[in-house]
Amino acid sequence: MKERIEVLLSAEEIDSKLTELAETLYEEFGDEQVELVCALKGAVVVTVDLAKKMKMPVTLNFMSVSSYGDGTVSSGNINVKMDLDEDIEGKNVLIVEDIIDTGRTLKKLKELLLFRKPKNLKIVTLLDKPDRRVADISADYVGFTIPDAFVVGYGLDYAQKYRNLPYVGVVHFDED
Ligand code: 5GP
Repeated sequence: MKERIEVLLSAEEIDSKLTELAETLYEEFGDEQVELVCALKGAVVVTVDLAKKMKMPVTLNFMSVSSYGDGTVSSGNINVKMDLDEDIEGKNVLIVEDIIDTGRTLKKLKELLLFRKPKNLKIVTLLDKPDRRVADISADYVGFTIPDAFVVGYGLDYAQKYRNLPYVGVVHFDED
């Protein structure tokens, strides 16, 4: 089996969408400080690129929660592999996600962070696959709504590969 990547969203399309999202966030938060909580590893690329476009003071924090192994099926449980290194109580917190699929990971993550009493907790995701949603959760800000396909690139992997692609593509598995 050979993997072939078909471009779904170009680097240019993603860049202008992130500019739009940053403008929307500025309308929402103004000059208030916002803490970006990046869900590792997938959201690292969108977190960095979005942060560079945000005009208010921004702090960065990282959390590693897992739901997928090397395959393509959600386990339905999250495992906190690495926690935030600072308290979020009283802060404007924005969870940055690469993609929302079944929503199970995000729902658990949101519950966990709400328990820590942030001033405000919002979610931004680059990609949303609403057709696959199982958990009752949605993002406050969505870059692109995409069909039910397994995508890679711009932080998203298949067996840890392709995270560095500057675009988002659909993986096809061709016979050799
Ligand atoms: P959920 O809990 O919403 O089903 O899963 C969310 C996580 O699953 C994402 O943060 C991402 O790591 C992974 N995931 C979901 N859909 C895809 C996809 O199409 N491609 C890749 N590479 N990962 C995905």
